[in-house]
Amino acid sequence: MYDIVIIGCGVIGAATAYALSRHEGRVLVLEAENDVACGTTKANSAILHAGYDPEPGTRMAKLNVEGVALAKEICARLDVPYRQCGSFVVALSPEDLPRLRHLYENGMANGVPELQLLDGAQARAMEPNLSEDVVGALYAPSAAIVSPWDFALAMAEVAVRNGVELRRSCPVTHICREPDGSYTLTTPAGSVQTRAVINAAGLAAERIHAMVETPNFHIMPTRGEYYLLDKCEGSRVNHVIFQCPNHLGKGVLVAPTVHGNLIVGPNAQPVQGDDTACTADGLAFVKRTAVRSVPGIDFRESIRNFAGVRANVDTDDFVIQQTIPGFIDLAGMKSPALSAAPAIANEALRLLADKDMLGAEKQQYQDGRSRVRFKHLSPAEKAQLVQKDPAYGRVICRCETVTEGEIRDALHSEIPALSIDGVKRRAGAGMGRCQGGFCGPRVLELIHEELGIDPLDVMQDKAGTNVLMCKTKQGGMDNG
Ligand SMILES: Cc1cc2nc3c(=O)[nH]c(=O)nc-3n(C[C@H](O)[C@H](O)[C@H](O)COP(=O)(O)OP(=O)(O)OC[C@H]3O[C@@H](n4cnc5c(N)ncnc54)[C@H](O)[C@@H]3O)c2cc1C
Repeated sequence: MYDIVIIGCGVIGAATAYALSRHEGRVLVLEAENDVACGTTKANSAILHAGYDPEPGTRMAKLNVEGVALAKEICARLDVPYRQCGSFVVALSPEDLPRLRHLYENGMANGVPELQLLDGAQARAMEPNLSEDVVGALYAPSAAIVSPWDFALAMAEVAVRNGVELRRSCPVTHICREPDGSYTLTTPAGSVQTRAVINAAGLAAERIHAMVETPNFHIMPTRGEYYLLDKCEGSRVNHVIFQCPNHLGKGVLVAPTVHGNLIVGPNAQPVQGDDTACTADGLAFVKRTAVRSVPGIDFRESIRNFAGVRANVDTDDFVIQQTIPGFIDLAGMKSPALSAAPAIANEALRLLADKDMLGAEKQQYQDGRSRVRFKHLSPAEKAQLVQKDPAYGRVICRCETVTEGEIRDALHSEIPALSIDGVKRRAGAGMGRCQGGFCGPRVLELIHEELGIDPLDVMQDKAGTNVLMCKTKQGGMDNG
């Protein structure tokens, strides 16, 4: 019997597992995919929003501002790539100015620190590549950029180190509420029993809730498509540049990434389920909208397009509730839920504590995490590391300077990478200009060597994305 089972290990499940791992109790996380952060958490704008967008008095406003401050501390503690670069919302015509003032007033009411309204010239002085059409801007110095999947992974790793169990490739297919109030969760690998359930299943949260009762919320999946540009475009802007938001969301942004690239997007397209296709129309919209605020973007330097799906919800606020004892929803986690995740996790713990379902704080807790990033070391540190382990002297990903030692670390971490993209998310191999064209085959070999997975069974990413289809001749990796 588990005390708590968390369904889903995106940033919300991971943050909740991290918070729960400080407390006594048997906690299990069930994740449908073969890795942490494979859903919306890996495909978004990667902004830790300052907190001026949500209307004052909403749960979203409170948790955004609280969460972004907590996220800053967590990223520092767990060695997650993070940069507090600040953000601008730009007004492209005088008609936008009242909207900027409204956001400023929201932000002041929400407790966002150091907000400033700038005129066009002041904004361009700080961000020279802004359009001449910019007539004003809201500047929020507390906004930041982050590696969203590493944020989730780091919290999940520390949770696992402190006793939380994680089962991957383990989708929950059925839930039964037993007469004693406990829950039996069915998965293809068998069933588990628990006193409490936390539904952090992202786009599937409504479906999970429907397994126990008729949901009182409805998720409306809304896709956002992006361009990711090469590092030569990475300093086109120094801040996150938003346009004025509308009813569809925060609009198309242009922003640096923590990895040194430029991200441009997203649009907002209602879709069915988890449809992450990129479309010619969607990308064309992103392109022509983005250049209104930053005209000089060189889209020929695009190295990847991708899309993420928002779990928009008809309640207009995060759904954090316990409608049945012991069953907690963390649903409708649209933007800014990445920013708010640690505060959302704390809300879940409060709901558990209210029902006497939260264990005492542990006496022994091992927090913190660090990882080797070879390219950021000094020459002396590099030499010392290579002497200790020559694998750090062999560069596998030449675009990003990722070494064999870092890839082996990723394959033996607390939550080991099992796929080529799993290695990419942990070590950065394949994130560069060639997008894994050169290093991919060697990463595949390393997965085979280190984890003993048959090369034919190594996935690019999720289940079914096999890289190799069959042997074309005798020999190969195993027998030379
Ligand atoms: C285009 C876009 C841009 C965004 N930009 C930002 C931003 O800049 N800043 C910000 O704060 N927020 C942003 N967001 C929102 C943010 O990405 C999400 O709020 C956050 O990632 C949601 O995390 P989650 O854990 O709820 O969902 P997910 O990451 O989707 O995790 C849910 C997990 O549940 C698993 N699951 C599903 N069904 C089952 C099952 N039956 N059994 C077990 N596991 C299951 C899934 O596999 C998945 O891993 C953006 C979102 C999008 C789409």
